[in-house]
Amino acid sequence: MSPVATAPDTLGQLLRGEWQDPDCGTPLRVPIQVVAIEQSLAGLEADLVTSLGLGRRIAVVSDIATREVLGERVERALAGVVGLTPVVLPPQPHADATTAASLRHACSQADALVAVGSGTINDLCKYTAAQDGKPYAVFATAPSMNGYTSQNAAITVGGHKKSLPAAGPAGVFMDLAVLSAAPTRMIRAGLGDSLCRSTAQADWLLSHCLLGTPYRRAPFALLAEDEPVLLDDPQALFHGDSEAMRALARTLVLSGLGMAICNGSYPASQGEHLISHFIDMFAPADRAVYFHGEQVAVATLTMAQIQEEVLAAGPPHLRSEPLTEGELQRRFGPDIGGSCWREFSAKRMTPKACSQLERRLADRWNDIRSSVSAAMVPVERIRAVLRRAGCPTTPEEIGLAPAFYASAVRNARFLRDRYTFLDLAADSGHRALTATA
Ligand SMILES: [Zn+2]
Repeated sequence: MSPVATAPDTLGQLLRGEWQDPDCGTPLRVPIQVVAIEQSLAGLEADLVTSLGLGRRIAVVSDIATREVLGERVERALAGVVGLTPVVLPPQPHADATTAASLRHACSQADALVAVGSGTINDLCKYTAAQDGKPYAVFATAPSMNGYTSQNAAITVGGHKKSLPAAGPAGVFMDLAVLSAAPTRMIRAGLGDSLCRSTAQADWLLSHCLLGTPYRRAPFALLAEDEPVLLDDPQALFHGDSEAMRALARTLVLSGLGMAICNGSYPASQGEHLISHFIDMFAPADRAVYFHGEQVAVATLTMAQIQEEVLAAGPPHLRSEPLTEGELQRRFGPDIGGSCWREFSAKRMTPKACSQLERRLADRWNDIRSSVSAAMVPVERIRAVLRRAGCPTTPEEIGLAPAFYASAVRNARFLRDRYTFLDLAADSGHRALTATA
């Protein structure tokens, strides 16, 4: 008898329609045809693409860097098999409306798009594909974020970064040798975008327990198999360990599918992502470029700290902040201040609602604390994992002055209507949320 337990193969079961949704007990369906995560996909590229039935004319979209890493190989494999249009974007393309418009034009004769890249190229392709109702698939070049399987794209329109509806991929293809050879910072970013599972779940659960907002267990159950691998030996990701990289690749795919089944980013984007969004919007223009997951790593530590402290302090006394639209416009400018006010209004507490909430907290405190705590990873564990992986853990390590970062933590909650521990901490006078703006 082998003492080695067989892995339950959550992803395989999910793709075959055999994975039981813990929220309703029936098999969960996901909007994707094929996920291939293999040590090498060399020689399989054409079969993978043609198995999707995307059409006869295919645009393979890369930039100069990702073409060198993998795009050329995909083009060679597809040449003669399909009508091929190679589209090579200039170096370091931006996921903005202008680039998307030129990509759409370049792909106008194609039936489908095949992206070869990571965050930016994937966002551009899924957004462009959705605009024309075309299918798309992606060959990943880095394990840097969880957007491969999500159904929205981060596109900058008129200087504002927006999350816009996009096509989910028909297929996601991950060659572990390619992912392992990605720049170290991109691997660290993917780890950061994965470890926020605990803070995002804690925030979403808080909102569910306290305000009765809808909540799903499925997206977290999907990730349970792989998270211990990432927490226990994060350095393995950088030593060419294919099982560690497989765990990260699966986590990124399943995290994106978790968002897709919830029709929103709730399971993977809460307070820590609000802090990261604030940084995206307001960081000094001369700051160097940092990856989304690097920012999320630092913000996850902040959220984990706040969550632990709020839960340890006992049932909080609440006071509603007498905030006005004018004050938010003073902080963020007229446009962004106005849209923040609309988001914040959805969760702003009147004094009456505040005292009702305080009573609810007092009545249910032990239940709330125990169910939220069960979802959390201790902040010191997260810090140790990030340090062992060489991820950033401080504002300075993502190019930010501590004072700017502190203001991001205080103000991030105004960016979105989601109720998180940032709101509970602010209303209960937590020191990280209460200094003047
Ligand atoms: Zn993210």
